[in-house]
Amino acid sequence: MCPTIVNNVETLCDVKHIVALGGAEYAKLGTPNNTGTRIVSLSGHVKRPGYYEIETGKVTIGQLINDPAFGGGLREPEPGRPPRKLKAVIPGGSSAKVFKAGEKFKLKRKGPDGQMVEQEMDMLDLPYDFDSLIAAGSMSGSSAIIVMDDSVDIVEALANIAEFYAHESCGQCTPCREGSLWMSKALHRLTHGEGRASDADYLVKIADNIPGGRTICAFGEACSWPVQSFVAKFKDEFIAKGKADEERRAQGKIDPDTTPSQQHESATAH
Ligand code: SF4
Repeated sequence: MCPTIVNNVETLCDVKHIVALGGAEYAKLGTPNNTGTRIVSLSGHVKRPGYYEIETGKVTIGQLINDPAFGGGLREPEPGRPPRKLKAVIPGGSSAKVFKAGEKFKLKRKGPDGQMVEQEMDMLDLPYDFDSLIAAGSMSGSSAIIVMDDSVDIVEALANIAEFYAHESCGQCTPCREGSLWMSKALHRLTHGEGRASDADYLVKIADNIPGGRTICAFGEACSWPVQSFVAKFKDEFIAKGKADEERRAQGKIDPDTTPSQQHESATAH
């Protein structure tokens, strides 16, 4: 069987190095078991978003965000506002499980004597490679890093991601077709004043029932991972939003006949 068109930018960049260096020399780049180069797409709240080519595993997530050669640190706050703080990082495309700022992981690394030792690591100290990110419970996936500072409403961020997946599901498998839509609808509700405190658990219940061999392709996992990880790591924010909506409704501050969601749908229909 012949290969079809190779149009992935990262692959083309790899080919350039392999042709120039030869396969054996190219394989010496990077780190053991994580050889070669990667094109990292750094976006979000950094001073210098862009594409950066790195040797796999030779740069940490913290360096990618803060080093002047890469992201250059978090963007400046508005005048008179305190410096921004890191809130979360999606390390490998929107389906990759999110990391929370300050998260620590226990990873097995090779010590100076060559023996494997368990090492506690801050999320920012994780080498940007395949093995480390998988060991930390996420993945380097498409190597698209999204950096979020403390201005981000994490529920809104997940609603945005879930809407994308609900739109992109091809609809062939019921768990993916219905699950991605239900998650998106629940998040739309939560971001339009109609949330419930129980929505956090509801979202996880749906997300847990999509993957695990219930769908034809990996899109089932892809739409579930962000929901599972966002809710697990920022559950208090989801519950707080749902509770606030419930309280507003109890006080009669939301007209049940003209909910914000209906207003939104009506506004977008014109
Ligand atoms: S899992 Fe894949 S094949 Fe199944 S509905 Fe989702 S996108 Fe389609």
